[in-house]
Amino acid sequence: MDKRTKFTLDEKEMPTHWYNIQADLPKPLPPGLHPGTGKPLTPDDLAPLFPMELIKQEVSTERWIEIPDEVRDIYRLWRPTTLFRAHRLEKALDTPAKIFYKYEGTSPPGSHKPNTAVAQAYYNKQEGTKRITTETGAGQWGSALSFGCACFGIELKVYMVAISYHQKPYRRIMMETWGAKCVPSPSPDTKTGRDMLAKDPECPGSLGLAISEAVEDCVTHENTKYSLGSVLNHVLLHQTINGIETKKLMEQADAYPDIIVGCIGGGSNFAGLFLPFVKDKIDGTKPDLRIINVEPASCPTVTKGPYAYDFGDSAKLAPIVKMYTLGHGFIPPPVHAGGLRYHGMAPIICHLHQLGFVEARAEHQIATFKAGVTFARAEGIISAPETNHCIKVAIDEALKCRESGEAKTILIAHSGHGHVDMAAYDAYLSGKLIDYEYPKEMVEAALSELPKVG
Ligand SMILES: *Cc1c(COP(=O)(O)O)cnc(C)c1O
Repeated sequence: MDKRTKFTLDEKEMPTHWYNIQADLPKPLPPGLHPGTGKPLTPDDLAPLFPMELIKQEVSTERWIEIPDEVRDIYRLWRPTTLFRAHRLEKALDTPAKIFYKYEGTSPPGSHKPNTAVAQAYYNKQEGTKRITTETGAGQWGSALSFGCACFGIELKVYMVAISYHQKPYRRIMMETWGAKCVPSPSPDTKTGRDMLAKDPECPGSLGLAISEAVEDCVTHENTKYSLGSVLNHVLLHQTINGIETKKLMEQADAYPDIIVGCIGGGSNFAGLFLPFVKDKIDGTKPDLRIINVEPASCPTVTKGPYAYDFGDSAKLAPIVKMYTLGHGFIPPPVHAGGLRYHGMAPIICHLHQLGFVEARAEHQIATFKAGVTFARAEGIISAPETNHCIKVAIDEALKCRESGEAKTILIAHSGHGHVDMAAYDAYLSGKLIDYEYPKEMVEAALSELPKVG
């Protein structure tokens, strides 16, 4: 095996197509349903929200979808991204395991998210959209889409979960620097927001509520579309550029992973990396490959939620999809991995979990920060709190190798840096961080509100 630390592709080797897993699924995805009628969604139902090209990608079964030149030109600002061999972490853990990480933190907003933000802004521009609305939790998606909209001169309004808006100003300032308008959600700007504020003026907000506001704003304004930063099939599709690059780079390193780990909020960064690999498991060439999805114990969607049809948002405006869910009314405990606090999960990941191709694990935040600090002291990179979840699992697996003497190859989907999350590190380092277990009774209560579908 190659002793190098960094594996890179030349700009001209950047992938020209995204990989669409829908071409290779052994069973098709269950259809999305209309939130009002409960009937299977049609392209016309989605037309008020998304440009037609994205609606087509959502249901396409074409295996390779060409990346437009204009999108590739912007990707070139930071892509292809680097695959690292974590020699120093291996040494610190005294493990025979070979640890790799593919690092998405070098994009302008510092995560994988612009891979889809730029593509979505492009298709909107092509179809004449003047203004986009979206929601954001801790601000990563809002900042990525602000950058994407700045690239194409589109106006953007971001509904940001109120508690984060007040506690974490830096991502809001990034959004404003890229030219977007950002308001705390619940806001007085929509009926959904006004109703919630009347009930609870101190409401901390949730991603489900912010989605409702952004969707309502979209359908009540001219020339406006809505954009979602995770969960949907077309979002995962755009992220596969990362997995395609990673596959080529692992070949360069003369290696193939035994285990791939990634963190899941809505599932887009990890799916983007593992989908081109899961294909090898589906077609039987790599039956032993393990793919581990890591979520917070405080928001245990896949490990504790049922696989059921649920609304994508709390006001029941967004489509009903089949997924693992904690219920659309879920208000998450205030853990620092803001990007992992969504009540549902990408239908593609849930379907692959049902079919037995991927597994899931939940981790508590204190242990994830401990792992993040170990990683930072060995590899230098201070990771996003979200990413620390899968670093924790990678370290556990590497330590198991130390026990067993096996030299497994472990690949980490490293979704971004944590430079805007230093308050969270401060809380950890000063012993102020708390762990939250999401209570079983809360899961059960939320589930009584699932939509009844045939
Ligand atoms: C948003 C975010 C996530 C979670 O979102 P996914 O759609 O599950 O990828 C993970 N890591 C980082 C750094 C993020 O910004």
